[in-house]
Amino acid sequence: MEVPNDFYTLVENVCRDLYIQSLKEIPPDVVEAIRRAAGRETKEVAKRIFSHYIKSIELGRDQNMMVCQDTGIPIYWVEIGSKLRLDGARLTEAITRGTERATREHPLRSSIVSPLKRENRQTSTGQRIPIIHYDFAPDSEALDILFMPKGSGSENMSFLKMLVPADGVNGIKRFVLEQVVGAGAKPCPPTIVGVGIGGSSDLCMTLAKKATARPLGSHNPDPQMAALEDELFEAINQTGIGPQGLGGNTTALAVHVESAWTHITCNPVAVNMQCWRAERRRAKVWPDGKVEVGF
Ligand code: SF4
Repeated sequence: MEVPNDFYTLVENVCRDLYIQSLKEIPPDVVEAIRRAAGRETKEVAKRIFSHYIKSIELGRDQNMMVCQDTGIPIYWVEIGSKLRLDGARLTEAITRGTERATREHPLRSSIVSPLKRENRQTSTGQRIPIIHYDFAPDSEALDILFMPKGSGSENMSFLKMLVPADGVNGIKRFVLEQVVGAGAKPCPPTIVGVGIGGSSDLCMTLAKKATARPLGSHNPDPQMAALEDELFEAINQTGIGPQGLGGNTTALAVHVESAWTHITCNPVAVNMQCWRAERRRAKVWPDGKVEVGF
């Protein structure tokens, strides 16, 4: 189906709203996981930190406030329904304009700068930003947009290693644990630990990032990958790093693994952490103007 002309304006408006709302309303699965972790906590300092997190979540939701000051790097995961006929360049422009408008109209702090001059256009956009990943969904007439404002504290704790096949699964586990322990308080724990396994170096890191956006409680459909998620989750929570690195029973809210097949001589592994606020928001947009918003 050919999308009407005003579809691009609708996408622009939706992207503006996704950015603003994602900073104020934490996904319900994350809120639930934080409440559960708070209830299990035995250390006094960790209990206090969890109570601050819960207060911030409630203030964001009830007072229309940002949960954390960091507006992050705007990242969109866009799935185009196979039955849609649209202009990809106009779609990218619409998403970019929505990002700029969120920044100007709210207004939001623009966290995006050029890499060497550190120039800030005050639009949250710049060369190759926002980051937009495109994918395709069979038999669908909708555009599915998942948005993440990726906070820098956790983004700076991103790691890749090109292991060799001889390192095996044990090498993967060791690498993930070393990065989480080495990161300590920096990614604002408890985190969602995204692990990418396989592919090329760039795909591996993208998989790790995408893994952090999976809803809490979900598992990788491959039983071996799911078992690895459980094993790493147990091990990470035995480190005692705890909320904000001050000690506690919960260092990770979840470990999510995403994988791809790789070269016979490669065994890449990537770690990307999502901080406790784990902000994400999604919208499905149809050519007739219908919009469904969720997480
Ligand atoms: S890492 Fe997350 S919680 Fe910590 S300051 Fe950045 S956005 Fe906020």
